[in-house]
Amino acid sequence: SERLKAGLARTRKQWGGGLAHMFGLRKIDEDLLEELESTLLMADCGVEATSHLIDALRKRWKRDKLETGDQLQAVLVEELTALLSPLEAPLTADTHKPFIIMVAGVNGSGKTTSIGKLARWYQSQGKKVLLAAGDTFRAAAREQLITWGERNGVDVIAQQSGDAAAVMFDAVNAARARGVDVVLADTAGRLPTQLHLMEEIAKVRRVITKADGTAPHEVLLVLDANIGQNALAQVKAFDAAAGVTGLVVTKLDGTAKGGVLAAIARQCPKPLRFIGVGEGIDDLRPFHAREFVDALFA
Ligand code: GDP
Repeated sequence: SERLKAGLARTRKQWGGGLAHMFGLRKIDEDLLEELESTLLMADCGVEATSHLIDALRKRWKRDKLETGDQLQAVLVEELTALLSPLEAPLTADTHKPFIIMVAGVNGSGKTTSIGKLARWYQSQGKKVLLAAGDTFRAAAREQLITWGERNGVDVIAQQSGDAAAVMFDAVNAARARGVDVVLADTAGRLPTQLHLMEEIAKVRRVITKADGTAPHEVLLVLDANIGQNALAQVKAFDAAAGVTGLVVTKLDGTAKGGVLAAIARQCPKPLRFIGVGEGIDDLRPFHAREFVDALFA
């Protein structure tokens, strides 16, 4: 879609537009593959995904006797789509009621904004949504969530004082009483010094399970695309603490590092539930590999 294309403008410029230009004028040779390799590395695909793609391209070049850059670009589109397709796994959130989504991520990743956008998304799917202000360490996080809820007519469970456990128990009870379909539970993204974020995240997960024996039904990790390769370390740390079952990658519009999705696919594959391509309330969309790759090269 046009909106996705616009959102991905910078990444596209880095490796779509740049590559289209590079490919269009050339015959395929090792120099071209080498240039392509640096472009993919600069777009933060990481060494593993980059060599996987370059190897695949070299094989196809020889096997299919490709000659022009255009032909090679078509193969890259194909290979990239194949690499990213396993990440495509929409989160319908209808296997439990309430379906409890624990949302984690470091401050600044776009966690709060994404919760607001997710609420809007699930509302648009006809679901009743409840927010739980589980970041009890940061008053601003709570206020931001409350404001968002007021503006959009979504109930928010928050407590002035009290810990995440109390908020989560409240939220689960309220969700049951009010016939809520989806609970989006915010969690801390940074703690006062000395306390360890990963211990808090693990604790919140246990608390949610205490409140509802089958929950959390999804542990979503929000990642800022701008952190590039550091995303891999964040996935590993949060996964070890709380068992990450899905990812949201934000700010793909503001970065030339869209290649990080390829690195994730290759090195720590997790379902990529949604991508953020702008600050607007509707700028969060389910990830579709083909649509994403097409938007990059369009
Ligand atoms: P939190 O600290 O993780 O809760 O982060 P916030 O939700 O407050 O977001 C931090 C900043 O990133 C805000 O200015 C958001 O508007 C911005 N942001 C979040 N998601 C996106 C996105 O997909 N694209 C862009 N351009 N900005 C985003």
